Amino acid sequence: MRTGCVIALTFLVLAASVRAGPVVAVSVSPAVISQGGAVVVTVTGDLPDGTPQVRFAGRTWPLYRESNRWRTYLGTDPNTAAGSRAIVVELVDRDSIHVLARRIITVRRVAFPRRTLIFDPETLALLTPEKVAEEQAKVAAGLRVLEPAQLWSAAFRMPVAGTITSPYGVISIYQGASHGWHHGIDIAAPEGEIVRAANSGIVRLAEPLPLSGNTVIVDHGMGILTFYMHMSALDVTAGERVHTGDIVGRVGSTGLATGPHLHWGVRVNGVYVDPLLWAH
Ligand SMILES: [Zn+2]
Repeated sequence: MRTGCVIALTFLVLAASVRAGPVVAVSVSPAVISQGGAVVVTVTGDLPDGTPQVRFAGRTWPLYRESNRWRTYLGTDPNTAAGSRAIVVELVDRDSIHVLARRIITVRRVAFPRRTLIFDPETLALLTPEKVAEEQAKVAAGLRVLEPAQLWSAAFRMPVAGTITSPYGVISIYQGASHGWHHGIDIAAPEGEIVRAANSGIVRLAEPLPLSGNTVIVDHGMGILTFYMHMSALDVTAGERVHTGDIVGRVGSTGLATGPHLHWGVRVNGVYVDPLLWAH
């Protein structure tokens, strides 16, 4: 009788421990990207208490909760090391970090071209450490609070029609020195041409910046932002809700620009990715 009780108890304990264990499914898509691309990580299942996060490319990334799953986008750029890269999904609880899953993706190296820019002295005079700091502070202030829920729907669209005069990732050379890689694409279009929101979201910044000129930043949720720069006019204000195709401003050449164009950028959880992979 006593033996029977012990056996029954053992079964109960086993059943309880199996139920409490994390039964999660992790999907990562796509498995192969190029520098400038992004992957989506989805975690579904019965997560124990704690906050899930992702480790990738030397940093942690937030996972955003949706009704019965967690999801995030991981961006890559020219600085992301090419090759096989691990994506580790972790659960952070009060006193430890558990690894829930590990996946491997391939990041392909891209040979980003170089371009030489010639600015007139007046435009170049804008490029001082003070102006750079001022711009960074204004952008940081605008992006202090971001929307965790997905606000975009369907595909992103190009904000303006025109010729792409400078693609993503190009290394800019001026005054004989390299000034980093291009964080977006330049679309040449006539001065005053309408610029439209690439997708739905909340305007986080709509103001003149010292280097980027008249700028709009739209928060599409889940760490996805779009940037519209060098415009001649602003048609929205910070805090405003916009829908795909709404007018956000007009093409111009304000700030550090050599002629009328729209600089369009897409940022994924802090990393500027290739906008052409989001809209064609
Ligand atoms: Zn640009």
